[in-house]
Amino acid sequence: MNKELNRRDFLKNTTAVTAGVATIASGITLTTFAANDNPVTNEKRWGMLVDTNKLTESNINDMVNACQEENGWGSEIHSTGHQKPSWIKKIKVKDKVTGKIDMLPMMCQHCEHPPCVDVCPTNASMKREDGIVLVDKHLCIGCRYCMMACPYDARSFVHEDLSNQKEHMPRGKGTVESCTMCVHRVDKGEMPACAEAVSSNGVIFGDLYDANSKINQTLRKIQSTQIRADLNLNTGVRYSGI
Ligand code: SF4
Repeated sequence: MNKELNRRDFLKNTTAVTAGVATIASGITLTTFAANDNPVTNEKRWGMLVDTNKLTESNINDMVNACQEENGWGSEIHSTGHQKPSWIKKIKVKDKVTGKIDMLPMMCQHCEHPPCVDVCPTNASMKREDGIVLVDKHLCIGCRYCMMACPYDARSFVHEDLSNQKEHMPRGKGTVESCTMCVHRVDKGEMPACAEAVSSNGVIFGDLYDANSKINQTLRKIQSTQIRADLNLNTGVRYSGI
């Protein structure tokens, strides 16, 4: 889960901005993403701001571990050559000129205009009204077009038999999966597990539209970056410090 990228390639053309679950047949699970306590509305846009100046490598490891623990991925026994599930990765970005190295967490960026949704032939890839991008495992046929379309390499395919799944986050062999922004927690008014793991140290979660939210107010004040902003995807995950 540790990738090294060239900083220039990674940030290519980025622009700074101110400012009810059920399991059915073997290996197949149903995932519903209905709101629990909070209605899903386009009056909200959930997002995260990641401050790479505050996050240490240890913090990012904590985020990855929290995601694995919360969502039940990462303990599968893998056959040789199969890609491992990975909902969040630790990325190392090196400036070729100065040698400066930034470490950052990379997960689904929850784009306003998600390429994964555009290419999905079955509408399994979908975006909720509140901006959270998901895979409906009822509909996913495992074609993996979405994995090819995602510029962030944020999706992975489940090759292996699964066991000990979390009731709140069922998975399915033969389907694609990625960060859900911990939708099961967000719908209950809780923050995503990775953000909670480092909440006082580098990740702010909240409603990008809410002028009173910490994430909105912070983004108004500081310089932040969308990874591959040149693609005009308007990501829900923003970074500062890179
Ligand atoms: S928001 Fe939830 S699913 Fe997404 S990377 Fe963080 S812990 Fe994992």
